[in-house]
Amino acid sequence: MCATCGCSGPLTHEHTVLIEQDVLARNDELARDNRAWLAGRRILAVNLMSSPGSGKTTLLERTIRDLSATMAIAVVEGDQETEFDAERIRATGCRAVQVNTGAGCHLDATMLATALRALDPPPRSTVFIENVGNLVCPALFDLGESRRVVVMSVTEGVDKPLKYPHMFRTADLVLANKVDLLPYLDFPLATFQAHLSRVNAHAPVLPLSATRGDGTSAWYDWLRAL
Ligand code: MG
Repeated sequence: MCATCGCSGPLTHEHTVLIEQDVLARNDELARDNRAWLAGRRILAVNLMSSPGSGKTTLLERTIRDLSATMAIAVVEGDQETEFDAERIRATGCRAVQVNTGAGCHLDATMLATALRALDPPPRSTVFIENVGNLVCPALFDLGESRRVVVMSVTEGVDKPLKYPHMFRTADLVLANKVDLLPYLDFPLATFQAHLSRVNAHAPVLPLSATRGDGTSAWYDWLRAL
């Protein structure tokens, strides 16, 4: 159950706010520990966040296939149930640890700490963290990651940065995925960028198609420059 998102039961509003502050303060402490642990090993951790079905796992499969010859990559997968995504990642030859959150709607710093110990990524490697598909709660939880990337499918509509500003506000990069579907959609990229810039003036938008490969070179350039 997630006290932070208010799904943890019949609490008063005041009680919920107190629990929320407590949960987030404790999480921030543990995130600092993760950040120090990662920095000590010169490991880059990229937190991928999005709605369910935006194409995070497909993007990771392609990224691993294209970059694993030149970049040591390992993956932490977050979902409420199943090992499906970790199995897909392992099929590429990459190491992956699956975290199941049960009723939980996000990964937190404790879950990442446990997953990192199990994954034992080598020094100077890159760890991708595929967060639970959810545009709300994952935004609130610092994991100790180096960068935050929001993956948005163009099928979700141009209004999402305005409707879910917390998610987009802390992004270092926004990937607009499934651009191969643009001929069938009303998704003016300029409007999306204008909406994003109202909540986040710094994050670049990279249009790409994880299934076809369009635009992935700009994504890879961004990763290599970190
Ligand atoms: Mg996935």
